[in-house]
Amino acid sequence: MPARRRCAACGQVFKVLPQVPEQSYCAEDACQRERRKLWQRARRLEDPDYRENQARAQEAWLARNPDYWREYRRRNPEYTQQNRERQRTRLQEARATEPSAADQAEVAELLGSGIYRLKILAIDRFAKMDVCFLVELAPVRGDGPS
Ligand SMILES: [Zn+2]
Repeated sequence: MPARRRCAACGQVFKVLPQVPEQSYCAEDACQRERRKLWQRARRLEDPDYRENQARAQEAWLARNPDYWREYRRRNPEYTQQNRERQRTRLQEARATEPSAADQAEVAELLGSGIYRLKILAIDRFAKMDVCFLVELAPVRGDGPS
C-alpha cells in the first residue's frame, strides 16, 4: 500500500510515489509549480551564487527579448488589470504590517551594506492614494554587492 499524505499546497490527500518518499506535494501542475517556486525562493535566500546566476540569466533573456513585457501586456489586458489590483492589495498589506527587525535584517543582508543610487524607472498610480514606484538600486561604491 503506498503511503498517503496531504498535499502542502492544495490540501488534497494523494498517494506518495515510492521513488519520492519525502514527497509533500501532489502531482497537480499548480502544486508542483508552487513547490518549485518555494524551492527557488529558499535557494535564492540561501545561495548568493544561485541568486546571481538567476538574476544574470533573467537579465540576459530580457536583453534578448526587449519587447516581451510590452507585448505581453498588449496581448493580455486583463492580466495588466489584475496585476494592478493585486499590486494595490499588496500595497495595502504593506501599509498594514510594519517590517520586523528580522525583515530589516533580511533585506539588509540581501542588499549588503553600502551606498546606493536610487533611480526611479516608472511610476504607477492607481486609486487616489496608491503610488507604486519601480526603482533601480545601484551600488555607488564597491562595498555593495558587485
Ligand atoms: Zn496539491
